[in-house]
Amino acid sequence: EARGLQSQEIEKLRKQKLGRSYSLSYEQPLHIVRAAGQYLYDENGRKYLDCVNNVPHVGHQNIRVVQAAMKQMQLLNTNTRYLHENIVKLASKLIESLPGKLNVCHFVNSGSEANELAIRMARTYTGRNGIVAMEHGYHGNTNLCVDISSYKFNAKGGQGQKDFVQLIPMPDPVRSQNIERFILDQSRETPAAFIHESILSCGGQVVMPEGFFQTYYKDFRDEGMVMIADEVQTGLGRVGSHMWAFEAEDIVPDIVTIGKPFGNGHPLAAVVCTEEIADAFHNGMEYFNTFGGNPVSCSIGLEVLRIIEEEGLQERAFVLGQYIKGELKKIQEEHSIIADVRGRGLFLGWEFADPETLEPLAEKASNVVNEMKRFGILLSTDGPMHNVVKFKPPMFFRREHADYMLSTMRRILGDMKRN
Ligand code: PMP
Repeated sequence: EARGLQSQEIEKLRKQKLGRSYSLSYEQPLHIVRAAGQYLYDENGRKYLDCVNNVPHVGHQNIRVVQAAMKQMQLLNTNTRYLHENIVKLASKLIESLPGKLNVCHFVNSGSEANELAIRMARTYTGRNGIVAMEHGYHGNTNLCVDISSYKFNAKGGQGQKDFVQLIPMPDPVRSQNIERFILDQSRETPAAFIHESILSCGGQVVMPEGFFQTYYKDFRDEGMVMIADEVQTGLGRVGSHMWAFEAEDIVPDIVTIGKPFGNGHPLAAVVCTEEIADAFHNGMEYFNTFGGNPVSCSIGLEVLRIIEEEGLQERAFVLGQYIKGELKKIQEEHSIIADVRGRGLFLGWEFADPETLEPLAEKASNVVNEMKRFGILLSTDGPMHNVVKFKPPMFFRREHADYMLSTMRRILGDMKRN
């Protein structure tokens, strides 16, 4: 067949042949056929500036990553039961980038799998079952990950909070800053771990007040719990000031989970933990993962880490992130429906709310995202009230991309005000 399937045919086949719970972005779904760097191209060759996909960290179809993958795929792909240099090189480089005693790696294929393993390790290490997580947190799509992700279990179709889970309320940066200190419920199952993102992504790009994580780390460590930082969204230099978002909070976890950007689109994720936890996990049961840590995935991960370092992507995220945040704050001064601008580096969010009542303006946020798409700029909304626009582009984002995004936002908000 010479021509590919047309958008309508694909949509129809999706409805017939795929699970009903998949979703599509935008009122008019996009049919993307190729990508390069910061841009996605649709079936008509129209290009879109990607401002929201943090998976292609070093750029869509980065040539160095593609070539590393091809080279290794031509040669060999096996599993961890053979000696191979790629996995130990990747582990060494990853450990080098992490502080403290985070010295032992396990490689897996997705963020969900990484968090599953992290929780299993914490439970094995402590002999306990309970979990403390953040309200509005998201940690993945498996049974356990949904059970600890209030973003899912408290949403439509969710089964509510399980007995073994306790939630720390998420501070609301717009409506109230005074939230009570969370205290462990001693009548519940004793917690093995506290798991958290260091900036709550699905929660609406929410940065915790200063000292928030430090306080809970101290409390929970006194209770013998394991600290797990989920860096699936925020890791690998995105926050600019540091390689890992937890470092910006001045904390060092006992386990870190890494995913999304690690393989630049290829399924690659990791769990890094302390020697003590790794030793306790080595309890007689073999850890085997058919695809996790294979030579192809590891060659890709290595190349991603090298590019981040050689191109100074963390520093770039810092400089450009500060500029964009500053400009967004100027836009906020002109448009009072922007109630808050927040985030770090190239991981930002801006929240729409009524300036008087602080009522969330989900429709405004959604309109802005759909309008931006008309101008060839891709963003999305999130947060418990769906009124936060998320910004987390591939990391080679440049000043000119930023200026196009910012001037378009200004124009759209201006038009919305007049209409
Ligand atoms: N943790 C966080 C913070 C995430 O955002 C996600 C994915 N959105 C996951 C874990 C799960 O990762 P995956 O979809 O690769 O299983």
